[in-house]
Amino acid sequence: MKIVDVKLGMLKVPLITPFKTALRTVECVEDVIVMLETDDGRIGYGNAPATAVITGDTHASVIAAIREIFSPLLLNRDVGDLNQLAREIDGAMVNNTSAKAAVEIALYDLFAQGFGVPLYRALGGGENSLTTDITISVDYIDKMVADAESAVERGFEILKLKVGKDIRLDIERIKAVYAAVKGRALLRLDANQGWSPKQAVQAIRSLEDAGVLLELVEQPVKARNLEGMRYISERVKTPIMADESVFGPLEMMDIIQGRVAEIINIKLMKTGGITNALKMTDLAGLYDVECMVGCMLETSIGVSAAAHVAAARSAVVSKLDLDVPSLCEFDPVIGGATYTDADVILNDTPGLGIEKIEGLKLLA
Ligand code: MG
Repeated sequence: MKIVDVKLGMLKVPLITPFKTALRTVECVEDVIVMLETDDGRIGYGNAPATAVITGDTHASVIAAIREIFSPLLLNRDVGDLNQLAREIDGAMVNNTSAKAAVEIALYDLFAQGFGVPLYRALGGGENSLTTDITISVDYIDKMVADAESAVERGFEILKLKVGKDIRLDIERIKAVYAAVKGRALLRLDANQGWSPKQAVQAIRSLEDAGVLLELVEQPVKARNLEGMRYISERVKTPIMADESVFGPLEMMDIIQGRVAEIINIKLMKTGGITNALKMTDLAGLYDVECMVGCMLETSIGVSAAAHVAAARSAVVSKLDLDVPSLCEFDPVIGGATYTDADVILNDTPGLGIEKIEGLKLLA
């Protein structure tokens, strides 16, 4: 199965409510879509959102990387040489992890299609049904409590609260949501780098002292401040999870060996695709570290690819944060995994199982 064409498109999906974190506010999901076409008429799909404040990637940079570097690299190559192709993609340019992820997801889609099995089975198999948390955006206290209540009514048992704005208000927000959903849902916090190490210790300890039980606190401090994250980990009981601090396997080793955080959030747009994500789950297994598999604000193509990885590596992936399709008004990706509130059901059709994408605007 040879790759004979690389096509690009843009896909936009409105969010039900704006997504607000300490870093940004987003109104809709918009991705660059990559389609790898093969000589036997198959299409492999991949995607990349713009996440300038996290990965440094924009739509324009993703398109340029694919057109100038990855497309020439992939044309006329055999999909069966997956490992070799993945090595070449990773080595062809530094950074640009979202563009790498887009082409790698499409390659893995084709690779699994070639065997006639869903992607998670090509990765070794697993359960086809998963459960995700849902994000509650940072907002006025009453709004966060109302959003949390309605998420619990929709069947979500784990809520991920976005905080990291004003520390005193953050503590009030968390206490209010905790009081509202106590016993019905577990809370995770994501501070998105918004606190200082001392603020984080103060906030987490005051919550612990107030009896607020948190499953974990994600990325309390700046991505590069590993020393600061270790400072927090050493001083609180609540597990700390690294997200923006960890892109690939090398950063993960630094976190594990330096005892910086207890849990690692793996996202394909940070790892540069599935190959590195698998390496990271293998490392997690070796070192007995827990993992979350998460996603960016991206369309269901990449979210589903992440879900397939999580299913195939469920022995170490104990936490899922794949709620973006549930935050969108509709899913334009037809076929593939389905998202109904907290339930993610993987396709039993080959690869990612995508039949077509509605509203896709092809790029010339
Ligand atoms: Mg995060």
